[in-house]
Amino acid sequence: MAQDSFDLIVIGAGPGGYVAAIRGAQLGLSVAVIEREHMGGICLNWGCIPTKAMLRSAEVFHLMHRAKEFGLSTEGISYDLDAIVKRSRGIAKQLNSGVGHLLKKNKVTAIMGSATLAGNGRVTVTTKTGTQDLTAANILVATGARAHELPGLEADGDLVWSYKHALTPKHMPKNLLVIGSGAIGIEFASFYNTLGAKTTVVEVLDRILPVEDEEISAFAKKSFVKQGMDIREKARVKRLDRGKGTVTAHIEQNGKFTTQTFDTVISAVGIVGNTEDLGLEALGVKIDRTHVVTDAYGRTGVEGVFAIGDLTGAPWLAHKASHEGTMVAELIAGRSPHPVKPETIAGCTYCTPQIASVGLTEAKAKAAGREVKVGRFPFLGNGKAIALGESEGMIKTVFDAATGELLGTHMIGAEVTELIQGYVIGQQMETTEEDLINTVFPHPTLSEMMHESVLDAYDRVIHM
Ligand SMILES: Cc1cc2nc3c(=O)[nH]c(=O)nc-3n(C[C@H](O)[C@H](O)[C@H](O)COP(=O)(O)OP(=O)(O)OC[C@H]3O[C@@H](n4cnc5c(N)ncnc54)[C@H](O)[C@@H]3O)c2cc1C
Repeated sequence: MAQDSFDLIVIGAGPGGYVAAIRGAQLGLSVAVIEREHMGGICLNWGCIPTKAMLRSAEVFHLMHRAKEFGLSTEGISYDLDAIVKRSRGIAKQLNSGVGHLLKKNKVTAIMGSATLAGNGRVTVTTKTGTQDLTAANILVATGARAHELPGLEADGDLVWSYKHALTPKHMPKNLLVIGSGAIGIEFASFYNTLGAKTTVVEVLDRILPVEDEEISAFAKKSFVKQGMDIREKARVKRLDRGKGTVTAHIEQNGKFTTQTFDTVISAVGIVGNTEDLGLEALGVKIDRTHVVTDAYGRTGVEGVFAIGDLTGAPWLAHKASHEGTMVAELIAGRSPHPVKPETIAGCTYCTPQIASVGLTEAKAKAAGREVKVGRFPFLGNGKAIALGESEGMIKTVFDAATGELLGTHMIGAEVTELIQGYVIGQQMETTEEDLINTVFPHPTLSEMMHESVLDAYDRVIHM
């Protein structure tokens, strides 16, 4: 007879849930994970990975157009959108089956079905063949989130796309409107713009990429405009009139209304947690708008019920979900894990140029009452960047003027999503300017700009 009682039941096998399940099993817990759709969650199937696969195609396409600069020649550069999508879907599938393999290897019981909490440690799973009742002393809810839909701007898969449609396009947009300029909106804008779509981005706030440092947002805007994008800030799409093959957007900007016609719209206006139909309210789990409320250890306040990842709110990032998953599994196994420190969760946007940041922006540091020292270094001053043909970008570091503590790092330019981890470790270790100044950075690398940015904050910059 199949096992029906566990130490830990995890609901949802995204990067939060499956990592929690594996860590729990490593620590000797008997673990079941229940997934209603696909192993790996949004991240592997419809988020982080397939977008990066598609953006890589766009990046190579862009570089092919620059071949001459590198002493190379190419003829008849073109692309096949179906082949780009096929590659992206193939990569998602490969990683999705990898998760199944990892769960099996760690002796986690994986069940495909939809789970509901029934109280007192009971979970009801509805599978293709019927229902199954399971019990556990601990239940971890990691059911993630989905795209927020504004009334009138709902995706229809034809003219108005959600991220899922944008990852499996039925046609190549010629004239594209992207609503929302967070990481998801900007990555799709970058992808389609690079492949030739005339792209307009509408952002309701006063600048694109609003969570980034203001200087980075401004730098990104300048670069995107140079690449041909139309960026409309402090603007709101009030209505979409869907016609035959076209959509007319009614846009309000600075009190003025304009209409503009597009053949495709991508709606990227935020995220709502998957809190419904889980039985959470009946148990007394607190839900704030669409997110489950927890303490720093993922505890919901209901004995034996934990929640992590996108379900618990911003930042909606896979690495945050995974780290929380590890933390909760360790807590349940009797270890003493540290809660996740928000200031060490980096955010990356894989557009061209890439954007990456960790910690406080200059404005937020000042708003928190810190007196700051700020350093900046341009890609133009770095030998490796010039050798790569990637001289567009900058690195900005923010320090506490009194203590020298590194408060934040903000980067734009080639490969910064790989560089940022250097200063994530710095923030985790609560490093100061002295440690960073005394660190030897390898030459020639882009990382030298991280050093120079610190030197600049302390009036010691060399190559500028
Ligand atoms: C287009 C796009 C690009 C992104 N790019 C990045 C990126 O580059 N970097 C990054 O860090 N983040 C990125 N994200 C965000 C990232 O995907 C999420 O932060 C991450 O997937 C959250 O993990 P999670 O485990 O909390 O939830 P999810 O990955 O959403 O997984 C939750 C799982 O729970 C399952 N589930 C829900 N309800 C039930 C139920 N009742 N029973 C059983 N199973 C259930 C769902 O089917 C799902 O598989 C991106 C997101 C999108 C949409």
